[in-house]
Amino acid sequence: MDFDLTETQALIQKTARDYANERLVPVAAELDREGRFPREQLRGLAELGLMGVNVPAALGGAEAGVVSYALAMMEIARGCASTAVTMAVSNMVGEVIARFGTAAQRERHVPRITGGEYAAAAFALSEPGAGSDPGGMTTEAVRRDGGFVLNGAKQWITSGEQAGVMVVWARTDSAEARRGPRGLSAFLVEAGTPGLRVGKHEDKLGLRASNTVPLVLEDCFIPEDALLGELDQGFRVAMMALDGGRIGIGAQSVGIATAALEAACAYALERKQFGKPIADFQAIQWMIADSRTELEAARLLVLRAAERKERGVPFSAEAAMAKVFASEAAGRICDRALQVHGGYGYVRDYPVERHYRDVRVTRIYEGTSEVQRTVIARACLR
Ligand SMILES: Cc1cc2nc3c(=O)[nH]c(=O)nc-3n(C[C@H](O)[C@H](O)[C@H](O)COP(=O)(O)OP(=O)(O)OC[C@H]3O[C@@H](n4cnc5c(N)ncnc54)[C@H](O)[C@@H]3O)c2cc1C
Repeated sequence: MDFDLTETQALIQKTARDYANERLVPVAAELDREGRFPREQLRGLAELGLMGVNVPAALGGAEAGVVSYALAMMEIARGCASTAVTMAVSNMVGEVIARFGTAAQRERHVPRITGGEYAAAAFALSEPGAGSDPGGMTTEAVRRDGGFVLNGAKQWITSGEQAGVMVVWARTDSAEARRGPRGLSAFLVEAGTPGLRVGKHEDKLGLRASNTVPLVLEDCFIPEDALLGELDQGFRVAMMALDGGRIGIGAQSVGIATAALEAACAYALERKQFGKPIADFQAIQWMIADSRTELEAARLLVLRAAERKERGVPFSAEAAMAKVFASEAAGRICDRALQVHGGYGYVRDYPVERHYRDVRVTRIYEGTSEVQRTVIARACLR
């Protein structure tokens, strides 16, 4: 077992860390306050190869592997969690198209994602009535005029307003496809396609600089060659993407928690009460020690899942364990960091209140904690 990073991994980590320190940390509070989409910041990430870390170089990616991706995500999320989730979804979509797309689909979309020509890419699985259970989706794709006509609604779509391309799941009209996860298909829908309407931007608790919107598909015609992967096999595409995506969200959680712990340590050393820095009090030291320990455990679980994915061995349960542990530990770490700040943690003058808000959703999206536990238990009880 080797815990050392390879040269490539160390380089990606340093590149992302430097970028976060220079370009994200100084503006993250402002982006959050104004709810401004981090367009410029994402362009910078594309220039560094971070919009396609695990995507083949031939398609404009960095081809640096899954561990490098997780390391980069930790650093970017430490700088700005909103930018990180936008980066995470774009990386996920780039990987999905690179893996399941035809040569024409890959060549058309992936370089535009990795190179920043598309501000972002989106993953449209959830619906108003189908979240944890995507098999309950009702969006339909019906064959017509040499293509498909999509009708339905999607909910909570990250970057839905800015995405140049989105992967949209729909129930296909084959005989076996009436209920449940069977008979779903994935499609590539480009921005501006007639019949695709973007709804009102969600007013969220955290990640306020990321874009989250509902989508309406109304007689939205897409050509036959917009089908991604095989007809009726879209559920498999979604689950494979989400397994990998969970590593990204675990890494995002580690990044947010790292920022919170750093802020807590700095504040504990600076703030004086009873004539000495509060860092001298054992109660504060224990909060910091518990946070540091949980953070390290979360980091190792995320990197282990990433390493398994990179090696091509099964990693679904490992990704679920990494996500559930990292997101929940990160929640506790942000909570303690706020406590260390006392009243100052509760106001916007210090960054911990943002970390506290931003981290909450990591227990919800790309599968809730409850769904992760189901995946883990299923693997144990097989
Ligand atoms: C900011 C944000 C961004 C998002 N981005 C995207 C995106 O880009 N693309 C996309 O497709 N989706 C996205 N989502 C959707 C997200 O993945 C869903 O919110 C999530 O899967 C949960 O679905 P739901 O909200 O419908 O909750 P529900 O599924 O209704 O769950 C409600 C509660 O019931 C629990 N529950 C449900 N089923 C079970 C069960 N079988 N056993 C035990 N408990 C259960 C859940 O854990 C939860 O606590 C995003 C969500 C948010 C908030």
